[in-house]
Amino acid sequence: VLSKRRRDPTQLLQILREVQEQVGYIPPPALTAIAAALKLPRARVEGVAGFYSFLHLQPVGKYRVLFSDNATDRLLGNLDLLGTMCQKLWVEQGKVSEDGLVSVDVTSCTGMCDQGPALLVNGRPITRLTHQRVNEICELIRSRRPLSLWPQEYFRVEDNIRRKDDLLNTVLEPGAALAAAMALGPEAWLGEVQKSSLRGRGGAGFTTGVKWEACRNAPGEERVIVCNADEGEPGTFKDRVLLTSYPDHVFEGMTLAAYATGARQGFLYLRGEYRYLLEPLEAALQRRREAGLLGQGIRGQAGFDFDIEIHLGAGAYVCGEETALIESLEGKRGTPRIRPPFPVIKGYLGRPTVVNNVETLAKTVLIALEGAERFAAVGTAQSTGTKLLSISGDCAFPGIYEYPFGVSIEQILEDCGATDVQAVQVGGASGTCLASYEFHRGIAYEDVPTAGSFMIFDTSRDLFEVARNFVHFFAHESCGFCTPCRVGTSLLQNFMDKLATGHGAKYDLADIEWINRLLKAASHCGLGLAAANPVVETLIKFRPAYERRLQSLDFAPAFDLDQSLAEARRMTGRDDADAHLSSVEAHR
Ligand code: SF4
Repeated sequence: VLSKRRRDPTQLLQILREVQEQVGYIPPPALTAIAAALKLPRARVEGVAGFYSFLHLQPVGKYRVLFSDNATDRLLGNLDLLGTMCQKLWVEQGKVSEDGLVSVDVTSCTGMCDQGPALLVNGRPITRLTHQRVNEICELIRSRRPLSLWPQEYFRVEDNIRRKDDLLNTVLEPGAALAAAMALGPEAWLGEVQKSSLRGRGGAGFTTGVKWEACRNAPGEERVIVCNADEGEPGTFKDRVLLTSYPDHVFEGMTLAAYATGARQGFLYLRGEYRYLLEPLEAALQRRREAGLLGQGIRGQAGFDFDIEIHLGAGAYVCGEETALIESLEGKRGTPRIRPPFPVIKGYLGRPTVVNNVETLAKTVLIALEGAERFAAVGTAQSTGTKLLSISGDCAFPGIYEYPFGVSIEQILEDCGATDVQAVQVGGASGTCLASYEFHRGIAYEDVPTAGSFMIFDTSRDLFEVARNFVHFFAHESCGFCTPCRVGTSLLQNFMDKLATGHGAKYDLADIEWINRLLKAASHCGLGLAAANPVVETLIKFRPAYERRLQSLDFAPAFDLDQSLAEARRMTGRDDADAHLSSVEAHR
């Protein structure tokens, strides 16, 4: 691994990942060897390896099975299937089987919600799981059959494109958009992007032209373009489809950004769950190099040099935040940075850096081909163009839908065959939960913004359990850097579990609201700020789902204190009869 990679600290995460692909985990001598080769403290190498949930410092099963555990996977019975697998393989969830053959556990949303329930086996996705398929997988594991000999249709991932509009209908001749932009020159091309009012499709909605201009004007010699393909928001999978079937749109968009800003270096940061896309994307890059669309003197223009490297993530939702992503690209733990300075001024290795979402970059191709005016004529005043939605949950036709901005929730529900809908979670776990009286509202930055996730829940679903799933997700994904988020998400999770087990009291609801205020006031990044949203919103809009779980008592403890102390009493041999809760209550 070391011989194939640059001896440079920015390669650390990629080296760790590749060692694990070969050995199955990262053994201590590998940590030492990597630290020596990269001239890094061993503690730093171990700290990075320990941060990412797909990296392991201890042996894991020869077959590592991870069931996707988004709220929509739950609707499709993923836990039931997981139980069946554990039973058949004689393994406890989260443990390695005694013979070291297999481990089975859950992981955050794998981006396959349109074809769930899904799992990853040694990093490769298997979708459309049924009990029969789980039984077949158990047989293959028991017979120790290598993954290369498993039926290849297991690994088929569908695009499920259901509605095309401007972007998905555009067939791109590689280089055509670049030719159009180069005919204008970099300043005029940047002007076109600004005129289009294109806004970032990753959720925040920042104006792309403004971002590019800030990077272009920032002091420094080297500039960088980063495509954020760390599509980790639960329920989002539209970037998966763009990367699968429209890679030239994405890479051409990155090159268009480089042309406008003067960047020479580009990265595509691909989420670890999409590892299976690495080889096809590398092949697409190679084709573009051979066609003179990447590398030195692009399209024959001296001085226009730009190339793209793909970096893989390793299972950390927080790396979707642009500064955490840059830290990860630099081979570090994915901890969000303090801003300012913003990445456009000081990003990757201190260089001015543009970080754009996959869909945003693909959209710039349309602007180059058809012009800013044509682009801005679609959508609404503050949200120009179209938006890709990843639709999943209770509907007949889950998949990818492209709509002009402004489309109403009602229209989308009708198109995807959803009936009897109780709620729609728009924008993923950190987004907004809309009740039926809000379905007249529209998808747009000025109304209901979204990075693309659109999860539907019909009236048979328990919104409390949906919110509990999201809260567990945030507690798992908190990077632990700041105390309010690290502790707050964990407390929130405990409160929700307490309510779920019937130990909740009305004061717990007040405490949840207090934790929400704390998270909003003191969290360092968007994860902590949004972590309580799913609970707070469902508490307001679907309060009966909470109230029916409350005890009539003012307070009910979440655990049995006497029982918790029993082991300590046994070990110390000290058991004062007056120090039991029952005797304290008797004295009252
Ligand atoms: Fe990390 Fe949470 Fe703090 Fe963000 S808010 S930096 S995820 S601990």
